[in-house]
Amino acid sequence: MREIVVLSGGVGGARFTRALRDALVDEDARIRVVVNTADDMWMAGLRICPDLDSVTYTLAGVNDEQRGWGRVGETERVSAELHEWGIGWPWFTLGDLDLGMHIARTSLLRDGVPLSGAVSRLTARWDLGVELLPMTDDEVETHVLTDEGSMHFQEWWTRHRAQLPARGFEMRGAGSATPAPGVVEAIESADAVLLAPSNPIVSIGPILAVEGIRQALAATRAPVVGVSPIIGGSVVRGMADACLTAVGTATDAAAVGLRYGARSAGGVLDGWLVDDVDAAEVPELESAGIASRAVPLWMTEPEAARALARDALALASRRG
Ligand code: GDP
Ligand code: CA
Repeated sequence: MREIVVLSGGVGGARFTRALRDALVDEDARIRVVVNTADDMWMAGLRICPDLDSVTYTLAGVNDEQRGWGRVGETERVSAELHEWGIGWPWFTLGDLDLGMHIARTSLLRDGVPLSGAVSRLTARWDLGVELLPMTDDEVETHVLTDEGSMHFQEWWTRHRAQLPARGFEMRGAGSATPAPGVVEAIESADAVLLAPSNPIVSIGPILAVEGIRQALAATRAPVVGVSPIIGGSVVRGMADACLTAVGTATDAAAVGLRYGARSAGGVLDGWLVDDVDAAEVPELESAGIASRAVPLWMTEPEAARALARDALALASRRG
């Protein structure tokens, strides 16, 4: 059985993971997804885990494909009530179905179940076809440093639409966080580790900031292959360019690959996929020790997304 581990953020990682699952539907494969939890927060007494929920909803097929996030058929009656009382953030609306997930999760956490246990319990409701693992059971929160002080990542991203210049990011708690149960074992026994085309700074960045995960990635026999979230010098969707700019990295497929670095030189990548339009960047990446290929990276159509997943696996097995 082929064992594959994916490192994932929210929406971008979810689309890639769904495509990978669907591409391998006829194969004996085990897919485990290590999901970023540094966007998580407490709000209105509830633990909100945006990236875990994006991946869960997408794999379960209950996501709102048109809007791009959240549950399909969502209503917002509870949030409207909370806003009347001034509870929570006025600029942050949670859907009613989504709130059901947060209440269920918080209930389990309050009973002493670790986040990883809550995730396996909550995802068991659907046949996801993959196993989700939070990167850690410890609380890690990304804070953004701005000229107006530091704030939770969600405030910067949602309220300020990433328009407030960021001076840097602080993954609070990441330094002392330990990988959730199963994460290190999954990476160690994997045949391939894939970095989804997720935000490199605030989605993949916090996962790599967990020391135990970084060590496992350095030690694994599996090739580590990433997919660029940047195509032709721009983010496909979202505002990841604001994150890259803040840390002094160009919004460019090669720059992101080089920022991850070659595993042979202390980085994390053996391989890197860039889009066809960025084919000219392949030699630079290769000379930095990262086996690179130019292939179509758009995941707009399901078949194109599955082809991308196959390309990532092909690059991984080429080295293996
Ligand atoms: P978030 O946590 O919901 O922001 O989602 P992720 O961090 O997992 O992914 C966001 C990133 O996905 C964005 O920065 C985009 O650059 C990338 N992305 C979205 N759609 C596509 C696509 O079709 N192709 C590629 N290559 N990247 C994409
Ligand atoms: Ca996220």
